[in-house]
Amino acid sequence: MSNAASAQTTTTPGPRTHRGSCACRAVRFEADFDPSAGTTQCNCTICTKTRWWGVIVKPSAFRLVAGEDVLGDHSRSEAGHARFCKTCGIRVFGHGNLPELGGEYCSVNLNCLDDADLSGVPVMYLDGLHNTWEQLAVAPYVDPVTAAMRA
Ligand SMILES: [Zn+2]
Repeated sequence: MSNAASAQTTTTPGPRTHRGSCACRAVRFEADFDPSAGTTQCNCTICTKTRWWGVIVKPSAFRLVAGEDVLGDHSRSEAGHARFCKTCGIRVFGHGNLPELGGEYCSVNLNCLDDADLSGVPVMYLDGLHNTWEQLAVAPYVDPVTAAMRA
């Protein structure tokens, strides 16, 4: 008897459209991606304090459905714009232009998804606190839990 299924994600692999929103649902979006292909968490001050859990997509894979009029923009440079709902304060997505991410990108806050079971999806931990996140972003991800189970 195999218990291999318990180590697999409950999310069906493959890209599909995910829907998400802020807490008050004034901001709503759709994004096309495959969570089983990898997600990111970062230890920089902003990501830690907002409990950010993201996935990077191309801008063409992201659609703002509602809420343009209530979106705030916290940006430190053109490299990154953090967009948040001015009504409920939730940071919903980001966008910008970084060569390390292949140019124009969108970053979706997975905590804002309304329809996804993300248990078991791989998470790549980025060391934004020491500004070395781009080195880790290109390194092969090793899930510490999965690695321990294989040992
Ligand atoms: Zn809101």
